[in-house]
Amino acid sequence: MEREVRLFLELLEKTNSAVAFTGAGISTESGIPDYRSPGTGMWEKMDQSVVSLSGFLRNPENYYSYAMESYPVRAAARPNAGHYGLARLEKRGWLKGVITQNVDGLHTKAGSENVFELHGSVRRVVCLQCREYYPMEDVMSRVFEGENPPLCPECGGILKPDAVFFGEALPEEPWERSIDLVSDSEVLIVMGSSLLVAPASGLPRLALSKGAALVIINLMETPFDDEADIVIREKIGEFFEETGI
Ligand SMILES: [Zn+2]
Repeated sequence: MEREVRLFLELLEKTNSAVAFTGAGISTESGIPDYRSPGTGMWEKMDQSVVSLSGFLRNPENYYSYAMESYPVRAAARPNAGHYGLARLEKRGWLKGVITQNVDGLHTKAGSENVFELHGSVRRVVCLQCREYYPMEDVMSRVFEGENPPLCPECGGILKPDAVFFGEALPEEPWERSIDLVSDSEVLIVMGSSLLVAPASGLPRLALSKGAALVIINLMETPFDDEADIVIREKIGEFFEETGI
C-alpha cells in the first residue's frame, strides 16, 4: 500500500485541484450502517415504506417512532479518520470540496466547509407547509417528550427530515453545483461508494470525460476500477492514517 499512498499524495500536491465524492462506506467506520451491505444493511432491518415519501405522509408518527430507536445511534456518531482527513486536505488547499451521498452530517462535523449533500441531511427537518428549517436535535427532544408527530411551531405543518426519501427527487442545487465542481477539477477521489446507482455513477464518468484523474478508495470492486488511476481496496480511515495527513 505504500506505493498507492505515495502516488495519492503526489497527485494531490501536483494538481491542487481535487474533489471528493463519498458514500456510505466512509461512515460505516463511525458506526452508521451501510444501507445496502448484506446482513448489516439498514434496509434489511426496516420497512422501506417508513422512509418513502408516501409512507411518511400517510403516517409520520411511524417514522418518528422508528427514529426514537435509530436517532440516538446517529446522534452519537462521530467523524472518523476519513472525514477528518478530507477536512485537513481542504484546509491545506488540496481539496476543493466534498460531494456526499450521506445524510449524517459527519463531513461538516469533521470541519469540511465546502460540502454538497446530494441526499440532504437528517441533522435538520423542514416544515412541509412553510419550508422553515429546524435542527433535528430540537425536534427529536420534543418527540421523546411525547409529541408525535412533531408539528411546526410557526404554522402547525408536518415536519419532515430534510433527507431525500424514496419517491422524492434529489434537490437540484447541490447536484448542479457538484457537476460544476467535478467539471473544474483535475482529480476525483471516490470514497466508500459502490458507484452502482445513478446519478452518483455519473460523476466519475464526467470526471473521466474531462480528462481528470480518478482515485477510488473502496473495499469492494466498482464498475470504474479499470479506468481509475489509483484503486485502493482498504478501509478509508486506515488509508488516511497511512498517508499521515
Ligand atoms: Zn411551518
